[in-house]
Amino acid sequence: MSAYDELARRMREIALLKHATALLHWDQETAMPEKGGARRAEALAELTKRAHEAFADERIGELLEAAASEPAVLDDEAKAADVRELRRDYERERKLPAALVAEFAEQRSLAQQAWVKARAASDFAAFAPHLETLIGLARRQAECLGAPEDGELWDALLDIHEPGLRARSLESLFARLVAGLRPLVESQRGRRRNELAGLELPIPAQEALCRRVATALGYDFAAGRLDRSAHPFTIALHPGDVRITTRYREDDVLDALGSTIHETGHALYEQGLPDAPGLPRGEAASTGIHESQSRLWENQVGRSLPFQRWLAPLLREAGGPAFAGVGPDELFASWNRVEPSLIRVEADETTYNLHIAVRFELELALFRGELPVAELPAAWNARYRDFLGVEPESDRDGCLQDIHWSLGLFGYFPTYTLGNLYAAQIWEALRAAEPELDAAVAGGDFAPILGFLRREIHALGRRYPPGELCRRVSGQALDPEVFLRYLRAKLET
Ligand code: ZN
Repeated sequence: MSAYDELARRMREIALLKHATALLHWDQETAMPEKGGARRAEALAELTKRAHEAFADERIGELLEAAASEPAVLDDEAKAADVRELRRDYERERKLPAALVAEFAEQRSLAQQAWVKARAASDFAAFAPHLETLIGLARRQAECLGAPEDGELWDALLDIHEPGLRARSLESLFARLVAGLRPLVESQRGRRRNELAGLELPIPAQEALCRRVATALGYDFAAGRLDRSAHPFTIALHPGDVRITTRYREDDVLDALGSTIHETGHALYEQGLPDAPGLPRGEAASTGIHESQSRLWENQVGRSLPFQRWLAPLLREAGGPAFAGVGPDELFASWNRVEPSLIRVEADETTYNLHIAVRFELELALFRGELPVAELPAAWNARYRDFLGVEPESDRDGCLQDIHWSLGLFGYFPTYTLGNLYAAQIWEALRAAEPELDAAVAGGDFAPILGFLRREIHALGRRYPPGELCRRVSGQALDPEVFLRYLRAKLET
């Protein structure tokens, strides 16, 4: 057996452990009874440990070394990329001492519990020591991984989610993005209102509509399912089993639809990846590229006027006489309101990236030691006043609102904005390739969109780093101007 084949066999075994882990996670979020929690955490920890040990095994290192020079690998771009990417993952795994990984896991669990309480009580002081500890551990983690030659320590964490990107280029990217968004928010705020306010749709009808929309976009229910959870998510066991969830509120059908379309976008990516268990060719290119797939369907497609032409009759059919006045224009206005607000997850498409800009700037300052943890709430509120013109009255609606830092997730927030920017560039390329797109969307034909994404992105897995994938698809490097151009064209009509 060749080294590459043995490597693939071992990666398949690890993927099967992760298959079980993913199913336990899905069950925990959707179906598990309350008393199941403690043992479930133990089961998840055990499976995760086994998968880690199997991958960090020295034999994997030897196989990677041997496979890299095999002719069958050198002659095959996909196999060569598998070996290159697995090596990156392997070296990262080996650089982290087991004691640090265990300490991080323990502190994370404590911090998350403290965050839940601190948030409920809006008591930042109770969470601050945990945040301090996690930042210290994240810094040690970054030191073990090592700063890239062309970057700084924080980049080692960013590199986990968005390989190749650096804080320095993100800073200039956000500066240009914020400068472009400010005047747009100023001119658009309050121009449109929620035309569906006061309209209620029973949850079974919403669910049927969500299924109909997901199916029309191309989601394969024979390889997935739609359930309910407090926070919508997508979980992929393999391309033949990709599950999504959404949430319902009787008085806000657009919330359920928007969440469903977003998760469907993630799921279409997972259903379209090559079936190669444990190998990078069967994995997403990056967190930012993954988010671009959900945002493109949610925003570029789902909030467009042609889409409302298709959706409006379906909604009237589902909602009966109360929805008789809901046409494409009413839907378009409701989806595209611009209203600065305090809470990221409720933000509109235009102000959303300002929420991320605040988090990026403050996280970097915390990590670089330029901002003491105790001063985070004041700095947060000042940025919100400056960027969005609103100021939280409590830390619950301010710096305690997101779970990410309590999970030790640093270098992650920017991937949301990257997803929005990649989506705009992919969309521009897609529109150039498919001139009749608006008519197709208005007629409920989404195959040209899915076909393009399958061909240009899904089928390639992790073959190219995200920056290169972006250049290949859109013909240019990441540039916030493309996103701003798209937003202006839509909002200034
Ligand atoms: Zn997402």
